Order: sequence, then structure tokens, then C-alpha cells
Amino acid sequence: MLSTEQIINTMSSQGLRITDQRKTLARLFAESPGYLTPKDVYEYMGKTYSGLSFDTVYRNLRVMQELGVLEQVVFEDGVKFRASCSEDHHHHHMICLKCQKTYPIVFCPMQLADAPEQFQVVDHKFEVFGYCKDCAEHAPAKVASGHQHSHGKH
Ligand SMILES: [Zn+2]
Ligand SMILES: [Zn+2]
Ligand SMILES: [Zn+2]
Repeated sequence: MLSTEQIINTMSSQGLRITDQRKTLARLFAESPGYLTPKDVYEYMGKTYSGLSFDTVYRNLRVMQELGVLEQVVFEDGVKFRASCSEDHHHHHMICLKCQKTYPIVFCPMQLADAPEQFQVVDHKFEVFGYCKDCAEHAPAKVASGHQHSHGKH
């Protein structure tokens, strides 16, 4: 994951003004192991910067994501952000639903997608959700019941 300095350097090298707020955001993300919702970030920032609006916070998250220092994942309960992986190249993620540990994967299914001609692809997402080794034992029961069911018909 990117460090506070790496996030700040990338933002400034791409022409973003490094305000005190953006420094705080960089530090917050570099030091957070899991994902943060825009609300988490807003509440954290509100402790230091009173009168800060949710829109301002959200706009900063957007800008940071567009610059590639934050990665965004849409979970079932909404969109969340974390500092980008140190992985430079295009990659996707495997994400543990319990501890939110994220593993970069270099496989990209886009090369296998037979997009219709004339369809101009601007973005694509591919995320795999599951349980890491440490969390697997606490995971909900496997889909074994569905398997049993199909056998039960005979
Ligand atoms: Zn990543
Ligand atoms: Zn886990
Ligand atoms: Zn891809």
C-alpha cells in the first residue's frame, strides 16, 4: 500500500495543490489497513476541520481516486476507499469480506471480454470477494446445501 509520502508526492506531481486537508487525508489512508466509507472519512476529518462539508470531503476522495492514489471498491453496503496498492501495473483485487485484506491480482478478464465492435471501453471492474486463510474458519457455511438438493431429486 502507498505510504503518506507516496500519496502526497503523486498528488503534487500531478499538479494537485497539497493543502493541509489533503495531507491529513493522505495520512489517514496510508495508516488505515481496511476500507473507509466516505462517511468514516467525513467524521474523521470533522474532528480536525470544523465546518467541513461532506461534499468537499467526497470531492477530495474522487480526485484522489482519479489520480490513482486511492482505490475504490463497491461493497454491498456501498462504496469504500483505501490507499492504492504499491502494484504499479493494471491489476484487480481479491478482497476478504471479514478483515478486508486485499490481494492484488494481475489477471485481467478484459482481454477475454468480447465487447461489441464500436463499443468504446473507458473503464472496467473485476473484484473477487471471499475469505482469507485467517478468516475462512469463521466464514458462513459453504453452498453445500444447494449441492445436496440437486442430488436429492434422484
Ligand atoms: Zn490495488
Ligand atoms: Zn480475512
Ligand atoms: Zn483489468
